Amino acid sequence: MLDLPFDLPPFEAGTVWLVGAGPGDPGLLSLLALHALRGADHVIHDALVDPRVLALARAEAVVEAMGKRGGQSSARQSDITDRLITLAGQGLRVLRLKGGDPFVFGRGPEEALALADAGIGFRVVPGITAGIGGLAYAGIPATARDTNSAVAFVTGHGADGEIPDGFDWDALAKGAPVMVFYMGLKHLDRMVARLLAAGRRPDELAAVVCDAATPQQKVVETTLGGLVAAVATAELKPPALLVLGAVVGLRARLDWWRPQ
Ligand code: SAH
Repeated sequence: MLDLPFDLPPFEAGTVWLVGAGPGDPGLLSLLALHALRGADHVIHDALVDPRVLALARAEAVVEAMGKRGGQSSARQSDITDRLITLAGQGLRVLRLKGGDPFVFGRGPEEALALADAGIGFRVVPGITAGIGGLAYAGIPATARDTNSAVAFVTGHGADGEIPDGFDWDALAKGAPVMVFYMGLKHLDRMVARLLAAGRRPDELAAVVCDAATPQQKVVETTLGGLVAAVATAELKPPALLVLGAVVGLRARLDWWRPQ
């Protein structure tokens, strides 16, 4: 399979590997992710996995799309876990491939818990999450010594589809110098209003990064107060990351990536 000077763990028949595919660029796959793609009998991927990654699957593998995507008709979570359990029960090597990292806003924990409950062997292969690797492709570090010694990753879309309320927005907005929002476009106006109400300044730097680390990457730099209008003007669409804080200012010098 892979010609390496050390062994990777075997992909056992009848098990599921829950693997992160990173934000886009196939070069960001881990060795374990590539090993899983080369060994899997059946690949079940979500909507965010880049087609160039899927093309690395073994020619004999069945490749099936199954994922939840906000606002679009998509598989129910219970259907996905049932399918993983059924295929593994048939003795197949099942690769559950997710964009970014499976344990960051990716429903990976739910799937792993269902596998654990069903007694199916599984392995988790972390991937590069969009909120770190995708931002890096836009020349925006998650932390930098002179700007922030903390960063918060926040979903803009709670389990009920609304802006999440399971944490203290005011405390987080006051405490996290840099905030990175996943799934932030849907309720953007309400989130911006919350952040302003919590004391974030309207002239604070903000950026939106769409399709990060893919040839379609698009970056808009603005301010917190200008975000809603900037997103509308540029007609930005998901998948998109929002980042708020002084790290955005580093992009002027760190914008290194040019899609081929
Ligand atoms: N598990 C994934 C996140 C899944 S939630 C991870 O670790 O990256 C889906 C959200 O992730 C999208 O709405 C978007 O906010 C973000 N996202 C994932 N891939 C992205 C990409 N290539 N560009 C921009 N945002 C991305």
